[in-house]
Amino acid sequence: MPGCRAPLHRPITRLDRGPGRLRGRDRLFSYLALALAAFPVAPGWAAEAPATTIPVPPPVPPARPEALKPPVPAEPERPGAPAPGTSVRTPGPEGNAEDAKPEIPIPPPTPPGRPPELSGQGAVALTVTPPDDTACRTRLRRLGVDFEALPPIAEGQCTAPLPLKVTRLADGVALPQGATLTCRAAEALARWVTEAQVEADRMLKHPLTGLELGGTFVCRGQNHDVDAKLSEHAFANAVDVMAFAFAGRASLPVKALPEGSDEAQFLGAVRTKACGFFRTVLGPGSNAAHANHLHLDERERSAGHRLCE
Ligand SMILES: [Zn+2]
Repeated sequence: MPGCRAPLHRPITRLDRGPGRLRGRDRLFSYLALALAAFPVAPGWAAEAPATTIPVPPPVPPARPEALKPPVPAEPERPGAPAPGTSVRTPGPEGNAEDAKPEIPIPPPTPPGRPPELSGQGAVALTVTPPDDTACRTRLRRLGVDFEALPPIAEGQCTAPLPLKVTRLADGVALPQGATLTCRAAEALARWVTEAQVEADRMLKHPLTGLELGGTFVCRGQNHDVDAKLSEHAFANAVDVMAFAFAGRASLPVKALPEGSDEAQFLGAVRTKACGFFRTVLGPGSNAAHANHLHLDERERSAGHRLCE
């Protein structure tokens, strides 16, 4: 029996440790060779292996130096700012595209545009420009005012960056002489005239049809005094009303009239109404310079004070 046991044990150990195992490997290799030859999947694996190894290593190094140059001026616009991340994924083509586009964005040329705005009289005009002029013009149109924009006025210290030429006010009240006014002053005049129309109908029984103006934009000092402070007329922000025109009756000049007459009541009423639309209202009785007209302007004063005399 022991003779039989020995030969049985030896071949088993030889197969596990010796030439028997080599035979097993040969078999495995042969199976693998057969499998590679039999299945078409094998070529796909072969293609993947070379593709991943070939492109990645060479392009990575060149892309980094290129990305490091532009990031300061032009990179913030695109996500390409993280140069290391992008270089690993697609090194070749993006590296070239980034080189071309960072040069295209033109942040430096914009600054040179500022100096011209800041130089000369333009800077002064910009500070005076009312920020809501567009909305004001829209309101003027809704009021039915006929006007057109004029070029900026700049005569020494007399300036009007956005003057308007007004030829007719609300409800067809004519301005035969025309008026060069800021939009704010034009709007105040238009709104005031609607009140004057009501007073004309109520007190004089004749519709108001026009205003005779003595002047709107005039480059001069207050009260025509050369040494005085500049008048609001010098900024197209004032209007002098010399007379009121009506349908069916003679026009009514602005002047001191005996108390109690319809004309005196009308002039007093429209003058008082003007204080609700203009910040300065002067006329007969204020001083000699305003004995024959109503001076209306939009001068800004501290704390919103008005001069209504
Ligand atoms: Zn005036």
